[in-house]
Amino acid sequence: MLMQTLVSRIPISHRLLILGLMLLSALVILMPTEPADSRQSSKELSELSELYVPELFPLDTSLPAETEVSLFSEPEVEELPEPELTWHSITVQSGDALSNLFRRANVSQQTMLAILALGDSTRTLTRLFPGETLEFGLDEAGQLQELRYAINRLESLLVYRDEEGRFQSEHQHRAVEARTDYAAATIQSSFWHAGLSAGLSNNQIMALASIFGWDIDFALDIRAGDSFIVLFERNYSEDEFIGDGAILAAQFSNQGRVIQAVRHSDGHYYKPDGTSMRQAFLRAPVEFTRISSNFNPRRQHPVTGRVAPHNGIDYVAPVGTPIMATGDGRVTASTYNNLNGNYVFIQHGNNIITKYLHLSRRQVRVGDRVRQGQVIGRLGATGRVTGPHLHYEFVVNGVHRNPRTVQLPQAQALTGADKASFIAKANEVLTELQSQQQQLLAATP
Ligand SMILES: [Zn+2]
Repeated sequence: MLMQTLVSRIPISHRLLILGLMLLSALVILMPTEPADSRQSSKELSELSELYVPELFPLDTSLPAETEVSLFSEPEVEELPEPELTWHSITVQSGDALSNLFRRANVSQQTMLAILALGDSTRTLTRLFPGETLEFGLDEAGQLQELRYAINRLESLLVYRDEEGRFQSEHQHRAVEARTDYAAATIQSSFWHAGLSAGLSNNQIMALASIFGWDIDFALDIRAGDSFIVLFERNYSEDEFIGDGAILAAQFSNQGRVIQAVRHSDGHYYKPDGTSMRQAFLRAPVEFTRISSNFNPRRQHPVTGRVAPHNGIDYVAPVGTPIMATGDGRVTASTYNNLNGNYVFIQHGNNIITKYLHLSRRQVRVGDRVRQGQVIGRLGATGRVTGPHLHYEFVVNGVHRNPRTVQLPQAQALTGADKASFIAKANEVLTELQSQQQQLLAATP
């Protein structure tokens, strides 16, 4: 079953890795003495194994020792010692020029210039940052034979001498493996805390909120008892965690309403029936992380003290909080009066107008075209208010509507064969998601 394959973690790769390392160690020992040949055989090796790129990163000392290599008997090979390079690890200090690093490694400026003359491939050496390291491999005569530089965790630069003693360079990339995992939680105090307790990173929590940001107002509509489950990827290279991958599928239960999203091959998220998660309007004009309290269902209006908001919704957050246009449109008002303070109105399609009041700052002008999610101003306390908040209105054909519940036309849905294959895959993923959720939530008290 597809999901089973997805869920199962690092299958035989451990064994393969160990086998590969032993093979590698054996080859290293057996390498011919000519530097040119040794270069070639290690190159072949890196092509041979995707699991391990020998030149890229120094061997971990915890890896199989040479004693284990002796298991491989290769009697016909001469016992000529490999000409050992002496390695100097030079760390970039603040204000260092490249020439300082070569000088500290006792490598001539002519050598440095010969390497830089390789052009684009070695230009990265002229943009080093403090704390980064160059590895200089010198032969017995003190000549530079190899230079290594880890550009980042996944890419490194290798400079070496070819048969004629001329420098060559190559960029090497570590193989990245995406593993899948699940995280689930029931919300008790806030969505943010629930996300962290489920083991999600800050970025994953934000990504999750943005996947559902057209359906759920994360600033005001999250309640204790809401729950979610996420299927996501984590990227690994040689068993080392490299970073978060994409969220593949998620389900959110919000006040009894269950919303599901599955990532399609186009990188966008769709509902199980193939309709888009994207809509013409975001549910909230403020990021939920800025909101003072997620749980205050009977919060009183900051001015009138009424529980039910008048014609709009109030978001209480610090002055300066960015305010986003909830949909694409054109600015029809950006001005000030005593009641509204600084305010912005946006005209959208479908005879919809959105209004944003009490801003400390306006960042658009009348006539401007704005995109969904674009910052149009900053939250403030201007006009008739007692405290900082955004007053947000959603007007359809001249009638005020609740922007958190109003039904709106959906964005482009999947069609044809694309839709059929998506629905089949989504059903499978979501079935697995629900069975995982039962297990995960049953396991947590
Ligand atoms: Zn208000």
